[in-house]
Amino acid sequence: MISVSDLSYLGLCQIAFLFNKKAKIVTRAMMQGAKRHNELQQMVTAYTDEEIVEKTAKGEKFVAREISVTDYENGLRGRIDELHFLGHNEDRRNAVVIKDDKFSYANFLGMNDSHRIQLSSYAFMMPNDPKFKDLVRVVGASINFRKFDSPSAVEFKISGSQLSSWTEQIPGLARLANDILSNGAAPQAQGFALIDSEWLPVSKRTCTSCKYNKVCSVGRKMLSG
Ligand code: SF4
Repeated sequence: MISVSDLSYLGLCQIAFLFNKKAKIVTRAMMQGAKRHNELQQMVTAYTDEEIVEKTAKGEKFVAREISVTDYENGLRGRIDELHFLGHNEDRRNAVVIKDDKFSYANFLGMNDSHRIQLSSYAFMMPNDPKFKDLVRVVGASINFRKFDSPSAVEFKISGSQLSSWTEQIPGLARLANDILSNGAAPQAQGFALIDSEWLPVSKRTCTSCKYNKVCSVGRKMLSG
């Protein structure tokens, strides 16, 4: 099983995806982020999986946090920060908006391809997860960018139709991720751009900001060239 947070590294670079799997680097921001996620979790009602399924099936409007989803067919698993259930639509599916929280010390410049892969993976997996099968319709998603030292947040939203065009790419990304991890494909210095749905060579700028640039010979070569 590949986690969605690992898969999202394919938006940065295939080599970064492999490094992330082999050598996890835990940064101060990641530790702080985990702490803030726990604090947000304390602020909402906690439901069991059974309660969530029951409320979803009844078409109730509610908010749930830290929900695990699994797609066994494509070997993907993930945990969604927050789900807003909006109630039954005309097909008696509970309309749901996926919300992700991102914390950082830096200012946010906008949504990148890793963020897009993460959101569209969740949107792809949710209707395939056994507990939500035939019960939900994903109608949108957003990322709430929060700074550690500020109470304000900036929310970037994605519509349901934009998400469904991106979700088509997720099985292919999961296949490539498995091929790279089983040595069936050599990782390239390329990142997947969901907006254009194609692999693009990483730029020197990406390498400068990549946390693996000290260990990646490809990145070092790009920066010196
Ligand atoms: S340094 Fe550049 S090529 Fe190497 S993993 Fe990072 S983004 Fe990819």
